Amino acid sequence: MHQVYLGLGTNLGDKEANLKAALEEIRKRVGEITSQSAFYASEPWGFESDNSFLNAVCCVCTNLSPEETLHTTQAIERTLGRLKKSVNGAYSDRIIDIDILLFDDLQINTPDLTIPHPQMWERDFVKIPLKEIAPDIAPKGKK
Ligand code: ADP
Ligand code: MG
Repeated sequence: MHQVYLGLGTNLGDKEANLKAALEEIRKRVGEITSQSAFYASEPWGFESDNSFLNAVCCVCTNLSPEETLHTTQAIERTLGRLKKSVNGAYSDRIIDIDILLFDDLQINTPDLTIPHPQMWERDFVKIPLKEIAPDIAPKGKK
């Protein structure tokens, strides 16, 4: 079994319903959610938008590999109606975004997958909910 931390964000439609639906799909398709943060409102990061975000972090127990986890979370994004992907690092409004923050203590650097998620420690909308559910996790080398 692997321990995976996922970061969720949404800034379109009924955001609370979007997060709840994503968490339910994660439970069904990735694995049991062992802890889950509150939902946090945040401003768009890295792009201009009038639509503020609602974010959350959860910890999931899974049998999936990192690649399978990515494919599954991307399939969940599509199920919930996310159409556009970010292209060349340009962010845009989204119904749901699910990022893999941490996967056990693995370090992965492939074209499709970077773990730990490269910007996680720069983003309050990740750091604050992560601190809530995993106060002991800190960036490598900064404990
Ligand atoms: P963003 O989350 O940056 O707004 P997307 O959700 O559209 O953008 O993801 C863009 C690409 O990021 C995906 O196609 C995926 O292959 C890649 N990616 C790399 N590392 C990760 C990760 N740790 N979690 C999720 N996606 C990742
Ligand atoms: Mg993403």
